[in-house]
Amino acid sequence: MSQKISRRLSQGARFHFPDKCIYCEQAKGNTISYPVRGTTSQRIGGGIAGVGGVYRVWSASTTLQVPYCEKHHREAIRVRAILRAAVVAGVPLGAALGYALPLILWLLRRGAIESDCFGCALVPAVLGAVLLPGVLEWLVRMILCRYSEPFANTPRSRAYASGSPGSLVPYPFSGLLGMRVDVKSSSEIELEFANDEIAQEFDGLN
Ligand SMILES: [Zn+2]
Repeated sequence: MSQKISRRLSQGARFHFPDKCIYCEQAKGNTISYPVRGTTSQRIGGGIAGVGGVYRVWSASTTLQVPYCEKHHREAIRVRAILRAAVVAGVPLGAALGYALPLILWLLRRGAIESDCFGCALVPAVLGAVLLPGVLEWLVRMILCRYSEPFANTPRSRAYASGSPGSLVPYPFSGLLGMRVDVKSSSEIELEFANDEIAQEFDGLN
């Protein structure tokens, strides 16, 4: 099982990584800057029945400098770019599917489209644009896991293999190759490493 490590997050907090690849433990060749930002909000007044009102918001941000060997540095950037592309492509694709589906169903049932159908189809279009990016990213990752070891050997895949699909994979906006980042609030960050040795070293360094 991959190990989760929680630490206090504060503005500009510095986190130290071992001087080696966080994926394979070989000599560090390059680092990837990974900005993180956590927010905490608390309602201080106003609003009706728990809705609306005035909130006070705290935030803290810092940048993780994640070390990789040359090979996994390239791999981490490539994997991240592919999954990010899947998410970006999912927005227009989801909107188009969400918009087209009700119109097609309407056509099949009634044989003609009335003018107000176009307005009604906007709701599923927005829903599609919101939901499909995540689904597409998951699908691309599941397919690539079969062919690519860096995709497969992630905290989530290992959790699936051990029968507890509880942890999330690193990518694309919540981590990097071999590492998942979960910013819990403006004062807490949780890191999960695919490599247990690295997790222990990180634990000792911070
Ligand atoms: Zn490596």
